[in-house]
Amino acid sequence: MTHTIHHLIGNEWRAASDGASFDSHDPHDGSHLATVARGTAEDGDAAITAARTAFDEGPWARMAPKERAKILHAVADAVDDHRAELSDLETRDGGKTITQSSHAEIPRVAHNLRFFADYAAMAENEAYPDGDLLSYTLYPPAGVVSAISPWNAPLMLATWKIAPALAFGNTVVLKPAPQTPLTANRFAELALEAGLPEGVLNVVHGFGGEAVAGPLTSDPRVDRITFTGSSATGVKILQAAAANHTPVSAEMGGKSANIVFDDADLDIAVPMSIRAIFGGNGQVCLSGSRLLVQSGIMDAFLDRFVDAAQNLAVGDPKDPATVVGPLIEEKHLEKVHGYVELAQEEGGKVVTGGSRLTDPAHAPGFYYPPTVITGLTNSSRTAREEIFGPVETVLGFDTEDEALRIANDSPYGLAGILFTQNLSRAHRMAARWRAGTVWINTFFERDLRLPFGGEGISGLGREGGRYSREFFTEPRAVTIRLSR
Ligand code: NAD
Repeated sequence: MTHTIHHLIGNEWRAASDGASFDSHDPHDGSHLATVARGTAEDGDAAITAARTAFDEGPWARMAPKERAKILHAVADAVDDHRAELSDLETRDGGKTITQSSHAEIPRVAHNLRFFADYAAMAENEAYPDGDLLSYTLYPPAGVVSAISPWNAPLMLATWKIAPALAFGNTVVLKPAPQTPLTANRFAELALEAGLPEGVLNVVHGFGGEAVAGPLTSDPRVDRITFTGSSATGVKILQAAAANHTPVSAEMGGKSANIVFDDADLDIAVPMSIRAIFGGNGQVCLSGSRLLVQSGIMDAFLDRFVDAAQNLAVGDPKDPATVVGPLIEEKHLEKVHGYVELAQEEGGKVVTGGSRLTDPAHAPGFYYPPTVITGLTNSSRTAREEIFGPVETVLGFDTEDEALRIANDSPYGLAGILFTQNLSRAHRMAARWRAGTVWINTFFERDLRLPFGGEGISGLGREGGRYSREFFTEPRAVTIRLSR
């Protein structure tokens, strides 16, 4: 079945203003999946107008947070009711395994909505009586939010932005990634049916560097830009936003270290490390794509790690037994393979994987096997640049200080993953690690109350809990004299 994907502007589903479209493909077999509106500057402008009008004149921004929460809960319920359908769309659109779509990402969409709905309704406000003066803080919504999201966890990451933006009373223009447009539209449909007022959520489609993204980042009627994507795109968005002093929250790339000490419980460290790089096919910003193993256990660890990598089921993401699906598109597969070739030029050894899967079970899909590279140092480009695929670069170390120095020697600073049974060392490392998130003996667990973001070129600002409230509102100090 193929889909026709239009913009949602106000209450209206529209083709691009000039009628242009582009094709989106199923990464499992490269077949045509959707014809998508190729947004123009006029489309971006119209969506901002709809969001601006809804914000300035509609009920949303003035509703009590608990009233907004009721609607967002109804949207979350609709997501739960359509979990199978949304999971299937996500899996066919982006190659995400059906297990991950239906057991992790789509449930997390509903959780994003419920969490921020409740958070906004329950958030505490400060008030300071001070003799004749009473001072307090108001958190009015910021206004119109541009939300620009990537393809690697389409609806989960879109709602990581939409949910807090809406819960705190803003209106939104969402631009999903062109590779994965399907779930955003189905979600928007469900949201309208569940009672979200007209113009509160608008969706435009198209390519970043092209016309539709222009207004989203440079129109002065936009009050906040929340972006998730590559660090290179982040720079362009920051430059565009600077002209209007528009605040930007940017969640960008990563090259996170996964450190395994010789006292680690390998029954935990091996499967977690496998998940940290091959889960989501390595197309995960938080991937532990630099695996640092302490010298004494290098051989024992690698034997088990490589064996586990070779036994991962790579195939049709619609099959519940599949663990590793296809890469998102041909161009991306070429980029990933280019890095494997580079690794070899840099002196690295491909221990397993390293070339496209072209057998009948995988061709003509965009399949690449779990790949492990040894023999490089942290100064190689392979170890410094984000590959965003199923490619693990293994590095050795001897001491805690050396591990930390290598981990922090990166332009990125998104996550750190650590396996040790030494509690003091775990705390020492967490305190000195230049990373927005540190996981100890685990991976990928998220408490939405905590700050999420990155250091260095991995991020600007934090979202989550009160951090999202600060970004999506315009905190205002009010002081009143009580006597005449
Ligand atoms: P990308 O930067 O190519 O695109 C992201 C989004 O930005 C897309 O919607 C794209 O169309 C849009 N875009 C591109 N150029 C633009 C421009 N000039 N102006 C406005 N919008 C523009 O990233 P991608 O390939 O879709 O996603 C992969 C990247 O995202 C990786 O680097 C990954 O690490 C990162 N990522 C980060 C996080 C995080 O939370 N830190 C999460 C997921 C993905």
